[in-house]
Amino acid sequence: MARYTEARCRLCRREGVKLYLKGDRCYSNRCAIERRNAPPGQHGRARRKVTEYAVQLREKQKLRRIYGVLERQFRNYFEKAERQRGITGENLLRLLERRLDNVVYRLGLAASRTEARQLVRHGHFKVNGRKVNIPSFLVRVGDKITVADKSKESPRIKELIERAAQNTPPAWLSYDVDAAVGEVLSYPSRDQVDTPVKEQLIVELYSR
Ligand code: SF4
Repeated sequence: MARYTEARCRLCRREGVKLYLKGDRCYSNRCAIERRNAPPGQHGRARRKVTEYAVQLREKQKLRRIYGVLERQFRNYFEKAERQRGITGENLLRLLERRLDNVVYRLGLAASRTEARQLVRHGHFKVNGRKVNIPSFLVRVGDKITVADKSKESPRIKELIERAAQNTPPAWLSYDVDAAVGEVLSYPSRDQVDTPVKEQLIVELYSR
């Protein structure tokens, strides 16, 4: 499966904001945005004319990078969002939030979406008691997310279960600390998604 493998901090520098792609490092003073917030490349600081198209494109790239989705798949999400009832931009965000790797991250069972994606792919999580190793799996209301029994022996997973116990998930998810079970209570509304994007700009970009 294709995925982005280049330096992740470079993506944040390109967008000029923290995209939180590297877990704990993002909250430390080793964060590249804290140290040098300039676009990558020799001419990174050069002034450029900012067109309407460029603003829309950057917003799309930012959202795509936050969720770690490649262009083709992102486009598929957009087309699906367009076919759904309601506001396309919000539908798009809702679809991205429902990805299993994102849900694992939101529950605090991974330090970043990148780590969540890897853990899902390695089969560390179950949905409704069945192993699911597809990061893009879309959860539904009522789904229960648990750590696979074998994985509970892994030192990293133990750390993450402790981490999840300290984490407050968004209102559309719940986490039972004693049983280590996450549950999807509803689909997220726009105000329950803290992703810093103007999704309307992305709708405008794809409507050109
Ligand atoms: Fe982005 Fe995290 Fe790297 Fe900072 S440390 S630039 S937030 S990926």
